[in-house]
Amino acid sequence: MFDHVEAFHRPRSIPEAVRLLRLKGRGARVVAGGTDVIVQADREIRALVDITGLGLDYIRKNGDGWAIGATATMSSVANSAAMRAFAAGIIAAAAATCGSVQLRNMATVGGNLANASPAADLAIPLLALDATAVAAGERGRRGMPLADFFTGPGKTSLDGRLLVEVLIPLPPRGRTGWSFQKLGRTEVDISLVSLAAGLQLDAKGRVKFARIAMGAVGPMPLRARAAEQTLAGHALDENLIGAAAAAAAREAQPISDLRASAEYRRDMCGALTARALRECARQAGCSL
Ligand SMILES: Cc1cc2nc3c(=O)[nH]c(=O)nc-3n(C[C@H](O)[C@H](O)[C@H](O)COP(=O)(O)OP(=O)(O)OC[C@H]3O[C@@H](n4cnc5c(N)ncnc54)[C@H](O)[C@@H]3O)c2cc1C
Repeated sequence: MFDHVEAFHRPRSIPEAVRLLRLKGRGARVVAGGTDVIVQADREIRALVDITGLGLDYIRKNGDGWAIGATATMSSVANSAAMRAFAAGIIAAAAATCGSVQLRNMATVGGNLANASPAADLAIPLLALDATAVAAGERGRRGMPLADFFTGPGKTSLDGRLLVEVLIPLPPRGRTGWSFQKLGRTEVDISLVSLAAGLQLDAKGRVKFARIAMGAVGPMPLRARAAEQTLAGHALDENLIGAAAAAAAREAQPISDLRASAEYRRDMCGALTARALRECARQAGCSL
């Protein structure tokens, strides 16, 4: 499967990894857990650059928020007490749904994002939480909002750079709620639709802050900005949830494939939005 690969590198530092990626150019491919690289078996790969020895497998405080290193595995995120507590555990919940136990022990957060599948599960709560992707290149490190990171199916703005970590700011406090929803054919299947939502309510039950992100319903993980605007400033009730769900379904750009039809995905997008918003409302102490 990889008989065309001429070199396998194990750099010991980020600058060394960056230098190797530049030297080897288009034929070089980063490998972390390998769960996507192996399946894709791209015959253009000439050199693999294994980044698992760079010490990027951390989950640590970053000011008031958190930093997750690119090679933190899905298992470590799913089992992290800090991630289970942060934002109602939506990052941990998404990591816990990523494939099987064996897969989660190998698959990394950085690989999930850099692979840029529209169905990348970790991307959805991270988008809802306004995360920043930090990349290292020849000119040093640069952060970019995750909303600008994905540029198309399998495409990112990394442009040959190394994804080093993801920074997650502290979300609003007070009357808040967060929810991650995933619909797949079985427990270990890739998402047919995935969705994350976050809400903050004021003392009168009006929406002060709203975030909705959705996966597997467009060319890349998407923010449902019209649905968020539908919610902003209004008192949260079932009518408003229905309007936001309809807006999210309209914003979705699903395709039909072997897993589901576009129509089904669009309907489920609305259903998961409503389900997620009800869960957020409950956490925020709002009885609908
Ligand atoms: C059976 C199966 C089930 C799966 N189920 C799910 C699922 O339920 N949900 C889901 O979201 N995904 C799923 N996946 C996809 C995959 O496991 C995840 O996307 C995983 O997180 C990829 O991480 P990795 O470390 O294995 O990436 P790798 O395979 O090592 O790399 C993936 C891509 O990202 C690039 N890359 C990796 N790390 C970096 C970095 N730090 N900087 C720059 N580029 C980088 C690589 O060059 C490659 O192009 C599944 C895959 C399989 C095979």
